[in-house]
Amino acid sequence: MKKHLFWFRYLIIPTMLLLFLSCIANKNATGGQVTMVILDATIWTGDAAAPKAEALAVCGDKIVAVGTTEQIKKLITDSTTVIDGFGKFVTPGFIDSHLHFLTGGFQLASVQLRDAQTPAEFIQRIKKYAEAVEPGSWITGGNWNHKLWGGDMPCHDWIDSVTTNNPVWINRLDGHMALANSLAMKIARITKDIKDIDGGTIVRDAAGFPTGIFKDNAMYLIDRAVPEPSDEMKDRAIQAAMSYVAEHGVTSIQHMGGWDDLVVFERAHKNGKLKTRLSAAVPLSTWKELKAKVAKEGNGDVWLRFGGLKGYADGSLGSHTAAFFQPFTDAPKDSGLLVNSFEDLYSWTKNADQAGLQVIVHAIGDRANHLMLNIFESVSKENGERDRRFRIEHAQHLSANDILRFGQLHVIASMQPYHAIDDGCWAENVIGAERIRTTYAFRSLLDCGAKLALGSDWYVAPPIPLQGIYAAVTRRTLDGKNPNGWVPDQKITVTEALRAYTTDAAFASFEENVKGALKPGLLADFVMMDRDITAIPPEKIWNVQILMTVVGGKVIYKK
Ligand SMILES: [Zn+2]
Repeated sequence: MKKHLFWFRYLIIPTMLLLFLSCIANKNATGGQVTMVILDATIWTGDAAAPKAEALAVCGDKIVAVGTTEQIKKLITDSTTVIDGFGKFVTPGFIDSHLHFLTGGFQLASVQLRDAQTPAEFIQRIKKYAEAVEPGSWITGGNWNHKLWGGDMPCHDWIDSVTTNNPVWINRLDGHMALANSLAMKIARITKDIKDIDGGTIVRDAAGFPTGIFKDNAMYLIDRAVPEPSDEMKDRAIQAAMSYVAEHGVTSIQHMGGWDDLVVFERAHKNGKLKTRLSAAVPLSTWKELKAKVAKEGNGDVWLRFGGLKGYADGSLGSHTAAFFQPFTDAPKDSGLLVNSFEDLYSWTKNADQAGLQVIVHAIGDRANHLMLNIFESVSKENGERDRRFRIEHAQHLSANDILRFGQLHVIASMQPYHAIDDGCWAENVIGAERIRTTYAFRSLLDCGAKLALGSDWYVAPPIPLQGIYAAVTRRTLDGKNPNGWVPDQKITVTEALRAYTTDAAFASFEENVKGALKPGLLADFVMMDRDITAIPPEKIWNVQILMTVVGGKVIYKK
């Protein structure tokens, strides 16, 4: 064994020397051998100093030159892969600033309820799926939306008779409530006597029996009974997720999840299986563990980065659990809830920030956002100046004064435009005509100097940046009822949306010096599409095709 290694060393040293020498020999303005060029394309670089180009050159995993086709042609050698752009549109690879990657991966293979339009269709799809899976296995995922059939909440007896052999625990598309069938409740030992839970709701019928719907913190009652998927299943889910997002031009994602997910990502990284770059946040309450990990290992590398902590202030609008100052328009006694106490959120934020970690907090209702801005403001003062990049995830409903504070306090608004055109179909009923004016306030936030990082919140919404850009720019709701845009004052331009999916999304994870724009020295992560989205009518962006996705100079998707 030793001898073998010895010879291996003798082989590897001359090989490396040769490679090094060949780089020197071909050394030109690029500083290395060019492995790939794109010529004759329409390039939006994301680099404010030189926003447009025709061609670019790659050496290994990095961009080494961006310019005219004539300039880049000169860098071609025998070993360069030459890709003719045929005038197609190239941008930096899309960065999805907020998603739940493993859940998304699992849901690719689960029952699909997102577009079930009626209770009958909902039941039918579950029936069909249950017939195809092993008896005894859990049916999870789903992403149903009761708003599509007028808001009637599903109940266990809708599905009990078609799922007698399988426990069912399927979530609403926002993940803030889910439906259990009777078998799942039996396994989880839920009876009439189950006590209510802080920060959550157990929906009960007139006689006090749980209907199968559990909201926010109460979801734990069933979650704890669902068996953990095997490592192999998790590995398959992340591979499926990476392939899926690559088809949509995504080269990096910012994952919101737990420590178990990080273990899966680390395993994939160790085995050389990553083709999407990941930045993984872990729960805010675990800041001590992350502090210890970062002290030992740093922040990871360009494939897998950590250092962010994600917390929750409130629930969601669709589940009536987002925390508002005033009650819901359609539920005058209810103004939502906080899922963590002010004291906990404050002390976690202060400690995490002191430890040099990035704090990322989910806040949807105007009260939740106000409270988080207060916490961020105090902690910034108490802990002193530093490049902290606090983030609020969703930042969905804001009071006018708080929009200003995003700019003043340099808090990044990490938002999901697809939610705007989905929620826009029904949100006015829930919060009224006045509050929708500062809902998904992309325009006002940018005008107040805030940075926007855009994403999908997949599995909650599709991880398709072109649909997100379409949504941010047109604000046309999915029901087709707002052809000129829902709250049109809050539209932004295609270039602004592109920036929020590339350069500013990279900024949001402290990675603007390695990716997010196409300029020499940055990673060769880019996407080619069939039309220039800055030059077509915005409503056509929805149907633009992704032709090729490149990560680190390697083609990971080609149509
Ligand atoms: Zn989310």
